[in-house]
Amino acid sequence: MTDNADTDRTHTDDTLGDATRVVQAGRRREWTGGIVNPPVWRASTILYDSIADLRANAGRDTHHRLYYGRRGTPTQWSLADALTSLEPGAEATFLYPSGVAAIAAALLSVLSPGDELLLVDSAYDPTRGQAMQLLRRFGITTRFYDPLIGAGIADLIGPATRAIFMESPGSLTFEVQDVPAIVAVARAHGLVTLLDNTWATPLFFPAIERGVDLTILAATKYVVGHSDVMLGSVTAAPGHFARLRDMSFQLGQVASPDDSWLASRGLRTMAVRLAQHQRSALTIARWLQDRPEVATVLHPALPSCPGHDVWARDFKGSSGLFSFVLQGGDEAARAALIDRLDLFGIGYSWGGFESLAIPADPARIRTAAPRDYAGPMVRLQIGLEDPADLIADLDRGLAAFADARA
Ligand SMILES: *Cc1c(COP(=O)(O)O)cnc(C)c1O
Repeated sequence: MTDNADTDRTHTDDTLGDATRVVQAGRRREWTGGIVNPPVWRASTILYDSIADLRANAGRDTHHRLYYGRRGTPTQWSLADALTSLEPGAEATFLYPSGVAAIAAALLSVLSPGDELLLVDSAYDPTRGQAMQLLRRFGITTRFYDPLIGAGIADLIGPATRAIFMESPGSLTFEVQDVPAIVAVARAHGLVTLLDNTWATPLFFPAIERGVDLTILAATKYVVGHSDVMLGSVTAAPGHFARLRDMSFQLGQVASPDDSWLASRGLRTMAVRLAQHQRSALTIARWLQDRPEVATVLHPALPSCPGHDVWARDFKGSSGLFSFVLQGGDEAARAALIDRLDLFGIGYSWGGFESLAIPADPARIRTAAPRDYAGPMVRLQIGLEDPADLIADLDRGLAAFADARA
């Protein structure tokens, strides 16, 4: 089997800086034809020269060979190759039409009826939905665990446990998980580890290097970066790609060439965008933490965030998404704050160039490790606007909150 991207992927040197690596990644001459960004190759049918040629191209091993549109074209191969090259030690990457589709394929590639999954309590809500509905229907059970469990996860492992799913930091509440400790326990028990790495991306948390087996991105967020494409990816450590690829082929998964092209375009600026998201989000998080209307800021780079020490030890940076807890007030006072904002849109998703604010209600979904908060929670995506303008907007919002709370 030659279906191993490690042997032929673009050699982006791991010693180069992030901005250089995202510019270089995936741009093989045979795929670009000399055009700077790999062009869009759209296809369903691929034509063969003869029956012998058609037969020679058939089979499972169609890696980087035109075979049929569902197996991709150089446009998708280039993006997949680029994402692989950003994860030192990775074998290969498969692309999906959304982040949620990527999570489903990764889970189905490792779990079988009778298996148990350990799923972090702070996982993205649709991931919980897959566990409780899709996986349950196929005889796979799920146990939720505290995101701060660390090596203590060993106590939850039973004879049926097959895999551990992590998301760090967690959705809405941003607890940072001790991924190396959990990976060490998983290895000792022969379990597969999966990580939703959407917040950090491989630039701030090189997941395969840290020991994770399957690392997942909602590429919809920072890779695309412009809020106009749905896309997902799973990058596998050596030995884990063949099963992932086979399951994804069976599921009929394919990311569109046009969407992959837009993602590959977005990727070129991901390092500079992330650097700016990081700077602006930290400025705003620090400003918020000094405000009397704010009880706590849940940003992994601030000591007030659960798991901050682990973040400081393991991560190379922080991105633009975080939450804050209001000091008292109710749902209506929180709505007064968010409705007052002019520069922050109200909408799901994140990772684009524009700022967003949504109400966050973790208590509605958490089961294993519910936490008490002093008031309602707001999640912010800090975009690429001038932070001073965003601060002025939040200042007006907090005043509206204080009026509504009184
Ligand atoms: C948005 C998101 C996803 C899902 O990605 P889609 O592309 O929207 O399907 C998965 N995980 C996290 C942490 C997310 O924020």
